[in-house]
Amino acid sequence: MRASRSRGWLLDIEGVLCDSMDTPHPLPGARGFLREAEERGSPVALLSNISRLSHRQVLRGLRAAGFRLRPRQVTTAGLAAASYLRARGHRRVYAISEGGLARDLEAAGLQVVRGPPADAVAVGAHRGLTGGHLTTALGLLHREAPLVLCGGSATFRGTYRGRTGVFPGEGSIAAALRHATGAPIDQVGKPDPRIYRMALQRVGLRPAWTVMVGDGAADILGAHRAHMAGAIYIGRRAPPGVHPDRVFPTTQALFRWYRASRL
Ligand SMILES: [Mg+2]
Repeated sequence: MRASRSRGWLLDIEGVLCDSMDTPHPLPGARGFLREAEERGSPVALLSNISRLSHRQVLRGLRAAGFRLRPRQVTTAGLAAASYLRARGHRRVYAISEGGLARDLEAAGLQVVRGPPADAVAVGAHRGLTGGHLTTALGLLHREAPLVLCGGSATFRGTYRGRTGVFPGEGSIAAALRHATGAPIDQVGKPDPRIYRMALQRVGLRPAWTVMVGDGAADILGAHRAHMAGAIYIGRRAPPGVHPDRVFPTTQALFRWYRASRL
């Protein structure tokens, strides 16, 4: 990790700042870390593969949990996907979404449709997913609409309608659609380096100046692909084949190390 050249931080949200955005209570050390970075003049940006909640909902939840953040400091897969679809000239989008992704698409000026015709199929996590949603998406993919994965998680922890546990993520829904149709998946989310560059550009940071902190393999792999200054894994040990510069068991342990460091 080229610590002497590091000036900023890019942090994952779920698993680093809070357990789940469904119930965003700050993890120990998380608010302290952001405060400390601010006092040292080190810019902080957040990057999440979340698309089940809109960018606005994520920002509001984090602020309610006591994090002082400007909108540009937070980049979500839903926000990035909306901007990507618009830049590619898609106007009508069929979205598999709990609501948040649809809000991000509409906020970007796109029309969210309930069926054909549609220019693209956008897939976010949806815990109320039905066979009807999959059948509509399948029909559109057969008509050559591109399959855009908004995020990438295979599973995620959360709380939905009173039930807390592990739920299928948007990556698993997109994989099912690819299996059914052979359509290639166009991913907007970690570990694709484009979303890292977008998150950093929004706050004026450069990859070579910035260290990534995340609790998933995708966080670390993407940081390497984006040529970031370093990558820190939060967890007991990094997954096989993933090589972070440092590992801390918890955000609290990272905060303690940061306070004692000269970064
Ligand atoms: Mg995470």
